[in-house]
Amino acid sequence: MCQTFEENEDKSLDLYLSGLEPLVVNETTGFVNIGERTNVTGSRKFARLIIEEKYEEAVAIARDQVENGAQIIDVNMDEGMLDGEKAMVKFLHLIASEPDIARVPVMIDSSKWSIIEAGLKCVQGKSIVNSISMKEGEESFIWQAKRVKMYGAATIVMAFDEKGQADSYERRIEIVQRSYDILVNQVKFPRQDIIFDLNIFPVATGIDEHKNYALDFFKATTWVKKNLPGARISGGVSNVSFSFRGNNPVREAMHSAFLYHAKKAGMDMGIVNPGMLEIYDNIPQDLLERVEDVLLNRRDDATERLLEFAENVKGGEKVNKKDDQWRSEPVHKRLEHALVKGITEFIEADVEETRQLFDKPIEVIEGPLMDGMNVVGDLFGAGKMFLPQVVKSARVMKKAVAYLLPFIEEEKLKGGDQSKNAGKVLLATVKGDVHDIGKNIVGVVMGCNNFEVIDMGVMVPTEKILAKAKEENVDVIGLSGLITPSLDVMVGVAKSMQEEGFTMPLLIGGATTSRIHTAVKIATNYKGAVVHVLDASRSVPVLSSLLNKESGPAFSQKIYDEYQDLREKHAGKQQKKNFAPIAEARANKFKTNWEEREITKPKFLGTKVFDNYSLEEISAYIDWTPFFQTWQLAGRYPKILNDEVVGEQARALYQDAREMLKKIIDEKWLTAKGVIGFFPANTIHDDDTAVYQFNGHEENREQVIETLRHLRQQTKRSDKVPYLSLADFVAPKETGKADYIGAFAVTTGIGADEKAKEFADRLDDYNSIMVKALADRLAEAFAEMLHKKVRKEYWGYAADEHLENEELIREAYQGIRPAPGYPACPEHTEKATLFRLLDAEKNADIVLTESFAMYPGAAVSGWYFSHPESRYFGISKIDKDQVTDYARRKGMDLKTAEKWLAPNLGYDPE
Ligand code: SAH
Repeated sequence: MCQTFEENEDKSLDLYLSGLEPLVVNETTGFVNIGERTNVTGSRKFARLIIEEKYEEAVAIARDQVENGAQIIDVNMDEGMLDGEKAMVKFLHLIASEPDIARVPVMIDSSKWSIIEAGLKCVQGKSIVNSISMKEGEESFIWQAKRVKMYGAATIVMAFDEKGQADSYERRIEIVQRSYDILVNQVKFPRQDIIFDLNIFPVATGIDEHKNYALDFFKATTWVKKNLPGARISGGVSNVSFSFRGNNPVREAMHSAFLYHAKKAGMDMGIVNPGMLEIYDNIPQDLLERVEDVLLNRRDDATERLLEFAENVKGGEKVNKKDDQWRSEPVHKRLEHALVKGITEFIEADVEETRQLFDKPIEVIEGPLMDGMNVVGDLFGAGKMFLPQVVKSARVMKKAVAYLLPFIEEEKLKGGDQSKNAGKVLLATVKGDVHDIGKNIVGVVMGCNNFEVIDMGVMVPTEKILAKAKEENVDVIGLSGLITPSLDVMVGVAKSMQEEGFTMPLLIGGATTSRIHTAVKIATNYKGAVVHVLDASRSVPVLSSLLNKESGPAFSQKIYDEYQDLREKHAGKQQKKNFAPIAEARANKFKTNWEEREITKPKFLGTKVFDNYSLEEISAYIDWTPFFQTWQLAGRYPKILNDEVVGEQARALYQDAREMLKKIIDEKWLTAKGVIGFFPANTIHDDDTAVYQFNGHEENREQVIETLRHLRQQTKRSDKVPYLSLADFVAPKETGKADYIGAFAVTTGIGADEKAKEFADRLDDYNSIMVKALADRLAEAFAEMLHKKVRKEYWGYAADEHLENEELIREAYQGIRPAPGYPACPEHTEKATLFRLLDAEKNADIVLTESFAMYPGAAVSGWYFSHPESRYFGISKIDKDQVTDYARRKGMDLKTAEKWLAPNLGYDPE
């Protein structure tokens, strides 16, 4: 999660931004959504929360934006009632400790420089300043630009000068050209860090001078992209529809149509409400025509006509045409329709009919079926179709191909048919890792694009990958992994490929992988092309470029150059992170009044097993939001079901999920097993938690039976914020307080692999992925449910708690259940201690792989802390003094400790 990220003069002119995670903006990124709701000038609700100091709710808005798909959040505190600097700093500090928000970069938005600078001083990662301009002349512009550069941020430059804001095409060009020249030549500002805001003004205002506002914006955008290399274009999109406040259907249509044309012109990013965008293709034709008449200034009465129309657009009523009409279209159209809509019902009959029309059966695949899949690929690439639909399309394609296969075999015997595909790809989840939903999705998407995919499954040893690659003579190897130890395994695969003389490209993907790790640690061990692929939708363009005979070498070279650049910067970044020595960090630990703390003794000591637990009961605790994320649908449940963009897809997916869930429960497809335990414990020597011997209710706090080895935050902080460690939430021995620690390990994955395979064997990837995704959800729900029972009953420290599922998901309760491998306890080998205490292999049927992944994959484990102030946080980077000490405490040599702690090392190990 928290990888370092370096800057700057990138030859490729990619824009690098980062929160806890990097965001690279280049020609393959697609449009970047900047969340607008954390802005006091734009959102009355947000303003009220900040003024009333309800920061927790304000933070929830930021989370909501990110969950709804914002890739950056714009934070603005310009409000008369507020001390803007203080509010900015406070809010940025608060979101910094929320990993699910802090993962995205921040846009620090203010018209006051002092507020911007206050923000720059405390924001982590690489942010964007919004904005600077020549409004007050060149001198202050240059001064501010230099400051921004010094802080290492990118910046929005407003098309504004001494004379005012640019409102025509010519004025925009004049100002941006002048600003650009000053920035690049005088300030030496990295050109890829310049983002122009070309002023989006309201249209359809009734004022004649405003008629070309949108059109001029589009034209100016095209001009900038052509004439000012590296510079990017942004703007506040909601402004354009200002005249239609209160009429959301019209506003959304205007935003989407505006973005459609602006993106075509080259607009890179925009400040939007990501939850409020209609899909361009879904805008009713008559509304769209009127909106575009206005935006493109196509007719004199455009404004009147849109106003008139707007009167009649009330809710967001969509025409739901349920038609069988497509059945009467020509057969190639029917195939296309079936593929796009994922309908398997008629596929065999239609394929048979098509087969009769061709000489050879293979031509059906290479002709109409591939044409249909190309339509699917284009729609997906353009963001007009979503992942679940694509996976359903793949199911249709597979069924069609399976039907044709016997005919093709027959042809082959006659010597006629050789199928051509776009290339052969071997996919595998590396040794020690069991996660494969993401990899399976990538495989399906590749398959849809005519690549032949050989999927070796999970926990695949390196030798087997290499042997298979040779045997099948594949064109590309793709490796996947979810947990951090897999990164190291991937390095090993690259080394072996080099030793054995492989030359084919190597693709790297999965949750913990990153471009920087791929460039620095993996690519340096293999001479062939090595490319990090972020997600399923990105895999196909990368593959096609790599394997293209003409452009392939140039593409590989481009990637190599980019990664070389990253490596150089990485190496050049010798100025070390600022760390507090571990002793100092420990001296400034989280402080609490242990005297006053009343610690509840759990109802029992030792373990309790839950065998074959009711899936029905568990299912009530499911958090559905991550389920939609798995399918790459952005938004929060239940709101997502009515989302303007993905709502329809989300509803269809949810219905399918519900139906399967019912079968899982009724037909007992899966078995739930879990174990919890409570143990006498105290923290000793600052960062260790000792677990003591017990017998029934008797405790012997002189006899240590296990020791939890915690890490502590170490990155230097200026103010009085403590350096946290999980150890701080358990009473230190010297307080004389009898404290406890709890632990749990649960799975609902027993039976999941078999069921998934059944579906896969029936060519049904959609349901194969679905069953695993649901098993994952049930495992998390099981953990949530047991945690509740623990608080109320088994440990009983919150016996009176009454919370709805939604509040459980928001973690509105006392205590936490941190999971080894996650930010507060990132080191995976601690799971060994957890598993010994619980005897989890026996009690819950979960095994640990050599990388400490849990198998079955649908499993969750962690510790219970009861302290009222315990909370989640991230250890982030740590220094060598702590690593050395940790190695000693764990009885590991330094090298081994550095291997397990690799993602958290704040220095380059020898
Ligand atoms: N409702 C979610 C719950 C799982 S994610 C779902 O169904 O997917 C939240 C869990 O991740 C927490 O309960 C905890 O076990 C783990 N977690 C989150 N942040 C963490 C952190 N900073 N350190 C350790 N564990 C963390």
